[in-house]
Amino acid sequence: MKKCPKCKIRYNDLWYKCIMCHTKLVPKQKGVFLFKKRFYVNLEDPECLLGQLIEQANTLIIFSTPSGEALMCNEAVEFFTGYKRDEIFKQEWLDLLYKAQQARKEMFKAVMKGCLISIRSKTYEGAIFRKDGSECMLSWRLATIRGKKDKNLGLLCVAHDVTDRKITEDDINIHGQRVKDILSSIREYVLMTTNLEGKITYYGLGARNIFGWPADKVYLEDISLIYPKYNRSYIIKKISEEIQKNAKFEGEVKLLRKGDIEFPAILTITPLLNRDGQTIGYTYVGKDMTEKKKIERQMIQSEKMAAVGQLASGVAHEINNPLLVILGRLELLDVEKLSKGVVKTLNILKTQALRIRTIADRLLSYSKEKKPDIKPLDLTRLMKSITPLLGYYPEFKKILWKEEFQKGLPKVKGDFNQLQELFLNLGLNACQAMPGSGKVTIITRYDKGERFVEVLVKDTGEGMTDEQMQRLFDPFFSTKEKGTGLGLAVCRNIIERHKGNIEVESAVGKGTVFTIKLPVAD
Ligand code: ADP
Ligand code: MG
Repeated sequence: MKKCPKCKIRYNDLWYKCIMCHTKLVPKQKGVFLFKKRFYVNLEDPECLLGQLIEQANTLIIFSTPSGEALMCNEAVEFFTGYKRDEIFKQEWLDLLYKAQQARKEMFKAVMKGCLISIRSKTYEGAIFRKDGSECMLSWRLATIRGKKDKNLGLLCVAHDVTDRKITEDDINIHGQRVKDILSSIREYVLMTTNLEGKITYYGLGARNIFGWPADKVYLEDISLIYPKYNRSYIIKKISEEIQKNAKFEGEVKLLRKGDIEFPAILTITPLLNRDGQTIGYTYVGKDMTEKKKIERQMIQSEKMAAVGQLASGVAHEINNPLLVILGRLELLDVEKLSKGVVKTLNILKTQALRIRTIADRLLSYSKEKKPDIKPLDLTRLMKSITPLLGYYPEFKKILWKEEFQKGLPKVKGDFNQLQELFLNLGLNACQAMPGSGKVTIITRYDKGERFVEVLVKDTGEGMTDEQMQRLFDPFFSTKEKGTGLGLAVCRNIIERHKGNIEVESAVGKGTVFTIKLPVAD
């Protein structure tokens, strides 16, 4: 401990003036800094505690005048900036550290000014330039030092190097952004996340594309909205059981898109984990299988058709010749000479022989032998010709038949007889699907500019199961006692030859809608 030379009071390293007699205790000399006129800091004096603290700190410390002149700086300055202490001391240090980067310098100065005005300490992050021109990212803390009467003595500027952290942060940001970009550019897959309560927390572009709802509509909605309403609870139960058992779900499910349209999809649900491995929600990845299923079905169908087609035409030809003989002979018989019982039997034979001929005809028309004679057709006239033909069938008499034909339809490209057969088949099937009573509605419609005219054949009949729907167009598939199972197979061929399209929607117990698209004539 040193003693004041005048009043002999002991003083410590931090004193500049004696607190009793105000004798100056430390001579003014280079490297000695007077702090609040009371404490002195001598960075070079090994006995000055404060000086040593500042000197040994591995943070950059500059004490600057409000105008930006460096009054003091510690040794770390040399390490951080590459300048010798003498180069900075008493200099406009910001000019050195920011070189030509005027904008950055102004920014720092603004922070300094803010600090001086508000008297609050401030933090700031920014790069300075070392003497060798390289950049050093510093995190600053600035504090005003006030003297008597609140006079601003200057600013204490303390900084540490955050270059490495900044690089890592930038890397993470770039990486994160890249992952985000990748995720949000996936259009073909549903990508979603939910929280533990099953509320949607992420809904990517693919999901928007496939489900059709906008993101803001869906955000924080319950995930159950993606499942068809009729088996929602069943699906959710099944999925949660599976997740409990195997920690994930993977399978083919029916999902629901905007407009209550169901579609087949492959769905994978996996837990979403946080850094500590805790489950914080679920990730949903799904693929819309509509197109694939359709193509698969078409492939199977066309293979089957080709095989069955060949067989059918062969059989039809073989049957036709003996059938012609039977029918010819039946015609030639002189019935007046025969007994009533025999005539009755012969009539039955004739009816059945004619039925065989119908089947043979259908087989032939199925086997693609008939080339369509395609001309521009008036579709309304064609549709109006169906009811007189249907009138021959007893099923038609029991039902209500409604026609909603749009006016001014363009002509379609088609073969009149074949299209008549097509709609007769569909109309008859609709009537047959409603034992007892029901309503069939035939709708024609066309949107300006479209390439196809649509015809809808709607019934309120028994509908079909999924399994029936899959086999509907298969030749010989029939659920009717006297059905041939060829009607729709023929329809499909006709549609194919017309380069049109046929689609079915059906619900058991509710009814069925066949939608036929026919190309507009040029
Ligand atoms: P068929 O009428 O001789 O049975 P189709 O090829 O015309 O043969 O039809 C095949 C099957 O498709 C039918 O047996 C029936 O099960 C089903 N089907 C066709 N149309 C309908 C409909 N409108 N409503 C319900 N089921 C239908
Ligand atoms: Mg039929």
